[in-house]
Amino acid sequence: MTHPPRGNSGCPGRRGWCSWTGTLCHDFHYAWREAQCVLTHRAREAVEVLKGKGLFVAVASNQSGVGRGYFTWEDLLNFTGRMLELIDWEVDVVVYCPCLGCGCRKPSPLMLEMVKSATGAKDCFMVGDQEADRLAGEAAGCRTVTVGMDERDLYQAALQVLEELRSAR
Ligand SMILES: [Zn+2]
Repeated sequence: MTHPPRGNSGCPGRRGWCSWTGTLCHDFHYAWREAQCVLTHRAREAVEVLKGKGLFVAVASNQSGVGRGYFTWEDLLNFTGRMLELIDWEVDVVVYCPCLGCGCRKPSPLMLEMVKSATGAKDCFMVGDQEADRLAGEAAGCRTVTVGMDERDLYQAALQVLEELRSAR
């Protein structure tokens, strides 16, 4: 599922920033009901500040609950619609792996590579809360930022991304 990027989306120099559902939304065990979609602390502000700086924001998430038969692909799309509504549709791309034991599931970098080719973004950051996120990010050539450690929330992670981009200039 993709949402058309706004603004100067064709610019190959635009930076990317990647998150996943456990980072953006609270990771209730195989959450799929719209009412279970609750953003993490300052997630909305985090996305706002990054989009304000012209970055792409993408979500890449393992959703094996579909493959396990816990919920349907349609349930997942409804959940996603709610998530996007809560952040004012500010996400450019959403990629899911709904399978079990397939080759695109994180820690594989495949979903992140899809995000990179869909957005044309260089200099991507992978922000996640799991070891699999860090490994997927590294394998896809992204810099990685971990949330949930030392009380670091998504907004602090966003500021870290912006700081690293500033100092890289
Ligand atoms: Zn898959």
